[in-house]
Formats: sequence, C-alpha cells, structure tokens
Amino acid sequence: MLAMNYRGPYRVRAAHKPDPVIEHPNDAIVRVTRSCICGSDLHLYHGLVPDTRIGHTFGHEFTGVVVETGSSVQNLKVGDHVLVPFNIFCGSCYFCQKELYSNCHNVNPEATAVGGIYGYSHTTGGYDGGQAEYVRVPMADVGPTVIPKDIDVDDAVLLTDAFPTGYQAAEMGDIKQGDTVVIFGAGPVGIFAAKSAWMMGAGRVIVVDHIEYRLEFVKNYAQCEIVNFKDVRDMAVHIKKMTDWLGADVCIDCVGCEASGSAMQSLTGRYMMMQAGSATALFWAINCVRKGGTVSIVGVYGPTFNFVPIGNAINKGLTLRMNQASVKRHLPRLIEHIQSGIISPKDIITHRIPLEEVSDAYHIFSSKLDNCIKPVLVPPG
Ligand code: NAD
Ligand code: ZN
Repeated sequence: MLAMNYRGPYRVRAAHKPDPVIEHPNDAIVRVTRSCICGSDLHLYHGLVPDTRIGHTFGHEFTGVVVETGSSVQNLKVGDHVLVPFNIFCGSCYFCQKELYSNCHNVNPEATAVGGIYGYSHTTGGYDGGQAEYVRVPMADVGPTVIPKDIDVDDAVLLTDAFPTGYQAAEMGDIKQGDTVVIFGAGPVGIFAAKSAWMMGAGRVIVVDHIEYRLEFVKNYAQCEIVNFKDVRDMAVHIKKMTDWLGADVCIDCVGCEASGSAMQSLTGRYMMMQAGSATALFWAINCVRKGGTVSIVGVYGPTFNFVPIGNAINKGLTLRMNQASVKRHLPRLIEHIQSGIISPKDIITHRIPLEEVSDAYHIFSSKLDNCIKPVLVPPG
C-alpha cells in the first residue's frame, strides 16, 4: 500500500509499505477514506518528539471503511464506515473507567504517562497511523465509532481529534457564565476551543496568533476578538488593558512547543526556552490569566520537560489543567451539536491533497502557506 513515511526532521514522503494485517483478535483493518494532518504531526515533523523512528507512518485523525475484523471483534462489521478517535485505549482499565482514555494503561505499557496514539512515535506505542491506504486498528471494539448517516465524512474526520480537543480545552478551563477567555493559537484546535468557549457560556473570547489569515478566519467563524501578537509589545499588559487590568478568567494554550522560534522573536529575550522548542504561549497564558484563574493546556509539548513560570502560577493561585484529549468521551455531545447545526466543523478544511503528495502537504501546513488551516490527505481510489 501507499503510506506516508517519515525520513527524518522536515523529510516525509509517500512510499510503498506492506499492507497491515490482523495481529490480534481485537484488531480491525480499515481502508482509509480521509486523513488529516494535525498540528501534533508538526511536532513529529520538526523532530521534537522523542523516539520518532525512520519509516514510521504518521496520522491519528482518520476515517475509513472496515475491510477485515479479528475473531473477537463484535461491535464492528466489514463495510462499516467509521471515525477513529486518535487515542488507542482498552476501555476497561482504571483510567478508561474514569473516561481518561488518553491515559489508558494497557496499550502503551512502556510509558508512564500517555496511552496509545496512532502514528505518534514509539513514545506513544509505535502504532503506525492512518496517513496511508490502510491502517491496523487495535482494540477495535472500543475506539471506532460508526459515522451516523446524517454526518458528513468531512465533519466526521474532525471528530477524531481537532473538534473534541478544542472542546476539552474549553471544558478544562472550567468557564463560568460571562467569563473572558483568551485562547493562544488560531489553528484548528484553537478555532474549535473558541467555538466551544461560547457553548460553555463565555462572555468574551479573544484569540491570539500572528498569522493574519488565521486570525481573520477565527474572527468570522467563531465571532471572537483577535490579537496579532506581532503588534503587541507585552502580552500580559495588553490582555490586562483589555480586561480592566484584571487579566482573563481563563487562558487556553492551543499552541504547544514551537520549532520555528517565530514566537520567540517577539519576546524580549528574558526567557530562555529549552532547546527543543519554545513555550511562549504557555508563558503568556500563565501571565495573562487573572489571579485565581484557570490555565488549560492542550498544546502538545513533545519533550517531556519544559521551563514554565511556576512561581508566577503559584503566587497567582492558578489552577492548571492539561491532558491529551479523550475523544470518545465527547463524541455523543459533539455529534448532536453538528446534527443541530450549531457548528459545521468541515468549514475549516482548506486543502484536499492526494496522499501521493504528502511531502507537499506537510510543507504547506508547516509553513502556513496558501492560507492553509486544515489539510486532508485523500488516499488513491
Ligand atoms: P497548528 O500548527 O495548525 O496551529 C498552531 C497555531 O499557533 C498557529 O496558527 C501558530 O501561528 C500559532 N502560534 C504559534 N506561537 C504562538 C504563540 N506564542 N501565541 C499564539 N499563537 C501562536 O496546530 P493545531 O492543529 O491547531 O494544534 C495546536 C496544538 O494542539 C498543537 O500543539 C497540537 O500538538 C496540540 N494538540 C493537542 C491535542 C491534545 O489532545 N492535547 C490534540 C490535537 C492537537
Ligand atoms: Zn491531531
């Protein structure tokens, strides 16, 4: 089959690989119909995630048709068109019972923190991902969800990660009626966090980025205020000015580690970041939130260590909440929101690129070219 193939930082290509096979009675094989590239894939692409091996196939946001099931699979049948949450989880361990699917204990036993994720290095289990014609889906009775008849497959693919992650980001912010919410990052996750913040009762939503076309998009799509950080000398002062000098009630980091250093250039140089990507947005989140406020972090930090202003956080009495999203937990509610017309996730898809051109697709998305917000890879056939 054709599959995305990692060759080293900033080098990916489409290559032929053996078709995946059933390795365990709980597995299914899925023929991929849509597969997005995520901001999380960029951390892999930029070489920031430990143990990303040459030849690995990325892709944790995909839909597909079941073509084969293992002998113990009961909830899926050949021909089902499914959306597959990015988490691989058993559904029954201590953590899954608490709906902390992203922290499942059974699928990535070598790691102490994170559970399994498709196509996300050996740090998260080494499972090949869905930027391919076919993918092996472990624990197939638990994760995949049959796409409801009235849900467009382009909406469904955004239910595998970006929309639920933005939603969980807002949820972890514990937004109260009328709260001012500041979101760092106007990528897909930040865009859905902005939409979700309104659903949870925010009184004001402000999104910060430096890419003008993305800020314009989120302003229109989520009816929020925008701040271009290139125009701002001191982010904490700027947000305080906007909020009667109190600061935001909730700040949300939808950026994570940055390879480019572009955000760093706007800092005065007071803060030195770890060599493996900066954490400017998290700095700003902690410094822009009001005393006693909440910082929610869904931006991914590939390296497990980072330098954050913990002294400021403790002195301000902040609540910090963070996790990889547990996609499955949010699906019933988010499917309802799409069905009722509250949101049309597919509107953020800007590019449909054949899988053969995966190298161009990563370049476009990573460099934010051609007004790219969300690219979808389409396998041949
Ligand atoms: P993306 O790359 O499309 O968007 C990130 C945006 O952040 C870009 O528009 C960039 O210009 C902006 N940015 C960079 N530095 C900034 C700063 N200092 N302040 C404000 N904005 C800044 O990525 P995405 O797909 O939207 O994902 C965003 C983050 O969420 C990534 O770190 C990704 O790994 C993470 N993520 C987490 C989960 C989870 O479960 N926790 C799931 C999906 C994605
Ligand atoms: Zn993702």
